[in-house]
Amino acid sequence: MVISLIEMIGGSDILGRPESGTKIAREDWKRFFGTFTSMLKSRLFTHTPFFLAHAMTWGCNSRCQSCTYWRNTPKMKYDMKTDEVFDLLDEAYDAGMRGYYMFGGEPLIRRDIGDIVDYAKEKGFVTVMNTNGSFLEKKAPLLKNLDFAFVSVDYHNEYDDIIRGRAGTFQEVMRGIAEMKRITKAKISFVTTISKLNWDTIVPMAKLAKKLGIGISYNSVEETLDFGLTDEKTTPNFRIGLSKEKLQEFYRIIWELKKKGYPLLETNVVLQDYVLSRPWKCHFPKMFVYVTPDKQIYNCDYSYAYDLRKGSFKDYFSSKEFKEYVKQAESCNKCVRTCVRGYSYTYELLPKQIFGLAGESKALFNTNVPADRIEEEISVTA
Ligand code: SF4
Ligand code: SF4
Repeated sequence: MVISLIEMIGGSDILGRPESGTKIAREDWKRFFGTFTSMLKSRLFTHTPFFLAHAMTWGCNSRCQSCTYWRNTPKMKYDMKTDEVFDLLDEAYDAGMRGYYMFGGEPLIRRDIGDIVDYAKEKGFVTVMNTNGSFLEKKAPLLKNLDFAFVSVDYHNEYDDIIRGRAGTFQEVMRGIAEMKRITKAKISFVTTISKLNWDTIVPMAKLAKKLGIGISYNSVEETLDFGLTDEKTTPNFRIGLSKEKLQEFYRIIWELKKKGYPLLETNVVLQDYVLSRPWKCHFPKMFVYVTPDKQIYNCDYSYAYDLRKGSFKDYFSSKEFKEYVKQAESCNKCVRTCVRGYSYTYELLPKQIFGLAGESKALFNTNVPADRIEEEISVTA
């Protein structure tokens, strides 16, 4: 899913715009510091989420082979309207949240996406978006207030179009990244989901990220995932997911890439602990709250939790159900996603994680590769 807080606030190289030399505005520092403070408050006192993870729409224009979410597109009529999203942001802010993570479906299919990003930033949130990238080129002018863009790319050339089920995707995404670099300050990173479909792209994707001067984070599809309502009929995981042995190999490969200096967002300690199969304590429910396009709260395993249309974040966070969810999560260990372990280590303020993030963050994000060089790179890759 996302990026860790320290990566977000990790230093001027992250927050500034290297190629233009733009300084970070005082207001931006205030926002980043506000998010960091809200994490500390959660860690030390409230133990409630400081990041609103908002699935902004039921719609998606892609048909990825590893996903079934796009089948929800007819439900787009139930997406919250602009004013309702503003209200949601107000409510989240009042409940102490300072991070806003936008995903979907595909958030950029919303016509009001620019207004929402602007509102969130103005309110004081750090703004983060996960996008399939196909509308980035067109919508980049609306995203000047976006802090971080996580762009899903699952192959290092046009074969990506096959995996993502949409012709022209790879070229659109690359042009979109170039445009974002040209006209926005957003820090950009690939998110690459590895399955049986694209095992051979692990190393080439890291090389591509390095060439483009952006970060990369890896996800995996695992064949045994049995969250929520998934079964062999409703999820492609059983067909394309990685076995336990393959997952171990996957962690070893990306750890090697990390050691070789590729711009992976995962820290050394997270990758090492996966390779060594070390148990860990999950703090995800204390960090993120997941809200659907029609304002329902779901748990991390996609089980239903709460109707936010009839209540409030504060009521939910003080409920017995939420406290049980938090407690059960601590010994869950179900997620094989590196990001969740990373968030949890950050939340614990684990020194190796904090030093890892602080030390490596400068190299991680958006080195000085101008947009026109990215365009050259696209034509070579094509
Ligand atoms: S872009 Fe995202 S939501 Fe859309 S089909 Fe692909 S993985 Fe699913
Ligand atoms: S490890 Fe368990 S509790 Fe934590 S995010 Fe994953 S499924 Fe949820």
